[in-house]
Amino acid sequence: MSGLMPGETVLKDSGRLPVAYVKSSFRTINGRLILTNTRLIFIGGRFQSIVESFLKSHRERVEIPLTSITRVEKGFMAHIKVYADKEYSFKGMKDPSGWIVAIEQARATQQLPSPAHSFCPYCGSSIEVGDIFCPNCGKKIS
Ligand SMILES: [Zn+2]
Repeated sequence: MSGLMPGETVLKDSGRLPVAYVKSSFRTINGRLILTNTRLIFIGGRFQSIVESFLKSHRERVEIPLTSITRVEKGFMAHIKVYADKEYSFKGMKDPSGWIVAIEQARATQQLPSPAHSFCPYCGSSIEVGDIFCPNCGKKIS
């Protein structure tokens, strides 16, 4: 799948168009839900309505960073609710409980306390917090 960031991996993918994103009480969009190790991505199918295909050439796309998610809940039937900057509802899920578990696990991984070191953006070596120069390549890092 294109559009992933370096180091980003897909953890769960609903496949082509089985999930409906509930945009408002009047409008749902069928599409694909993808969980990566950093975010939840919904990609709507093309030509959701004739009007929309005239107005917009691009597909509907929703990205929810895992760090912004505060809660995930199973709704009625094949329905999950994701609480982040707002409430996102997805319906028609094949395995709603499995999705919730996967999202919770991905979130837990995101929220591990950050270690006292990180990595040099130039060479990838481990660097200590507070280092000004990379001990390996010598580039300035802060
Ligand atoms: Zn370096």
